[in-house]
Amino acid sequence: MRESILTIPVNEIFEKKCGCPVCAMRDELEQHAVEYIMGAAMMEPDVRIETNKSGFCKEHFEQMRACKNRLSLALMLQTHLQELQKTVFTEKGFFESKDSKSRKTTERISKVVNDCFVCAKIEWGFTRWLTNMFDLYKREREFRELFSQQQFICLPHYKALMQKCDSDMDKSVKNEFREVCTKLVKNYLDELEKDVSHYCKMYDYRNTGKDADWGNSKDSIERAIKFLTTR
Ligand SMILES: [Zn+2]
Ligand SMILES: [Zn+2]
Repeated sequence: MRESILTIPVNEIFEKKCGCPVCAMRDELEQHAVEYIMGAAMMEPDVRIETNKSGFCKEHFEQMRACKNRLSLALMLQTHLQELQKTVFTEKGFFESKDSKSRKTTERISKVVNDCFVCAKIEWGFTRWLTNMFDLYKREREFRELFSQQQFICLPHYKALMQKCDSDMDKSVKNEFREVCTKLVKNYLDELEKDVSHYCKMYDYRNTGKDADWGNSKDSIERAIKFLTTR
């Protein structure tokens, strides 16, 4: 798999100034990885070996299913299932096996159930992207400016940024970075809380008239879920 498809330019993502920039980066990585699996990966047996072992999570199976090329998905599933037959459910008397054998089997199944080829690629791309982003943040005042102008940072990505910042961010800008991130999260949280509260209030019988003012609250449930879960 070419690394270039997992390289997302930092500035491009931040210039959008719409939503959480880390979500936007994840979405692009995800899209590239899914498109790759459903297209070019057909020609690369190495990739099939990898996907047979790790499989995919529900989220990414759904995204693959939404692609037009269902034959790609079927072929991938075919060898994935065959691999399971060969490596996990191979000998007779599988359920009567000794403890250690049973443990090995559950270990293999755990890998298939818990791992995901696309999630792993996202993780890989994310780590590199963060390193570049931190570097840019340290070097360019313009980028620091651009960073502070983001709409918000979602809660899970705030956590990821804070953790990574502890170990990887240059000391000279660490505190500033923390403060800017926290401000982006707090401001958006306040905005969301206001919108969701307004939404609740609209269910009051006094607000049922034709000209009831929903303000910005109509999609507040969806926005709150995205903020809390990244999805
Ligand atoms: Zn996010
Ligand atoms: Zn996944």
